[in-house]
Amino acid sequence: MISKSLLPLEAASPAYICPYDQACSYLEAAAKELKLDQGLLEILSHPRKVVTVSIPVKLDNGEVRVLPGHRVQHSDVLGPYKGGIRYHPAVTLREVSALAMLMTWKCALLGIPYGGAKGGVPIDPKRYSVGELERITRRYTSELIKDIGPAIDIPAPDMGTSAREMAWMMDTYSVNVGHAVPGVVTGKPLAIGGSRGREMATGRGVMIIVREALTDRGQSLVGVRVVIQGFGNVGCAAAELLYQAGAKIIAVSTGAGGIFAQNGLDIPALKAYAAENHKSIVGFPGAIAISNADLLTLSCDVLIPAALENQITQENVHQIQAQIVAEAANGPVTLEANQLLEARGVTVLPDILANAGGVVVSYLEWVQGLSYLFWDEERVNREMEHLMVQAYHQVIQQSKTRQVNLRLAAYTLGVGRVAQALTVRGLYP
Ligand code: NAD
Repeated sequence: MISKSLLPLEAASPAYICPYDQACSYLEAAAKELKLDQGLLEILSHPRKVVTVSIPVKLDNGEVRVLPGHRVQHSDVLGPYKGGIRYHPAVTLREVSALAMLMTWKCALLGIPYGGAKGGVPIDPKRYSVGELERITRRYTSELIKDIGPAIDIPAPDMGTSAREMAWMMDTYSVNVGHAVPGVVTGKPLAIGGSRGREMATGRGVMIIVREALTDRGQSLVGVRVVIQGFGNVGCAAAELLYQAGAKIIAVSTGAGGIFAQNGLDIPALKAYAAENHKSIVGFPGAIAISNADLLTLSCDVLIPAALENQITQENVHQIQAQIVAEAANGPVTLEANQLLEARGVTVLPDILANAGGVVVSYLEWVQGLSYLFWDEERVNREMEHLMVQAYHQVIQQSKTRQVNLRLAAYTLGVGRVAQALTVRGLYP
């Protein structure tokens, strides 16, 4: 077991919020509410295994660069470790450890038999050629070869990675073990055993949870004004599905800035525009340019941060005008900002619920792979929707029963289930 104090401290500006400390605060709050035994809390506060490898990569210009690659396995009490691989310049061991812990609670909350893990390489994938990215991904995978596997730890896409990287990972793993192992990753292309519906799954889950929250308020998606930060795997799919359901997406952004249209953006046209312009949405005809900071504070009904952590903090929380904040990204609202929003009557739909659609369909992909029986998209979406809606209602019920906000309700359910499993399994030796 790795002590929390062994995780290297990271450079701290006054505004720095340590993601791992933040994740532990949520865990401690849940443990207090559940009156969890101190020993159990100790175990759950620490990742079970932390791996950092060196990835030497030959760049296209012949230079050799060595990159760090992390994989943190938080808990496998309920089943194999599960979690995405992130390629982003801000990746650190503490961030990856926090995200691994979040995955444990998310899987438990959704009732799927996985533990939590996360991986990451601190690079900006836009600055590397496809060939360089392939070499980085393959070497990273081979360095982790003994730590991953369909019964051990199953990576998936996260920020900066996609089905393409999963195909490289699956191929590298399979070549090394000597036979095809599709189950080593999820979120892979259909051609090698991916699941229908996986690409849109996280965005679809966000749409479902927002829809349920609106229903509880006596509203529907039709005509609802939505702002989305991030137009990648998650943000783009959420925008498309919300648009199809009749919502008005008035602003979206990428790392390069945002766009705003008072009467709503034509999302299919924007998606096509982004595809033609290397994922950039800047300059989309008929829209006004807007900064990411201003986008978050726009007047709207639903705000969906679908990019990075710590976007809504004590600094800007007082300017947030949305009635519902749906955490499509992991950890976009800080603990303090969450409390301030709740005090103002804003509904914060917590990440471990709102963005769980991806891991649910990853699980369904794994199940289909293990049973060698592949479903049509309608069935995948139906099974996913069932699990998402069920978890939503459990969180609402828990919130009412315990008189706690939705985040604490979700955490007490997730943490409680893992703690119960740990108790039943007992402590070895
Ligand atoms: P992605 O790389 O596909 O897209 C990220 C988007 O965020 C891009 O549009 C990028 O330009 C934008 N972005 C980057 N920096 C930004 C900034 N400073 N301000 C505004 N926008 C910025 O990543 P993704 O897979 O869509 O993941 C987004 C978030 O959702 C992450 O927090 C991730 O952990 C979480 N998530 C993803 C999945 C999944 O299935 N992909 C599942 C659950 C949670």
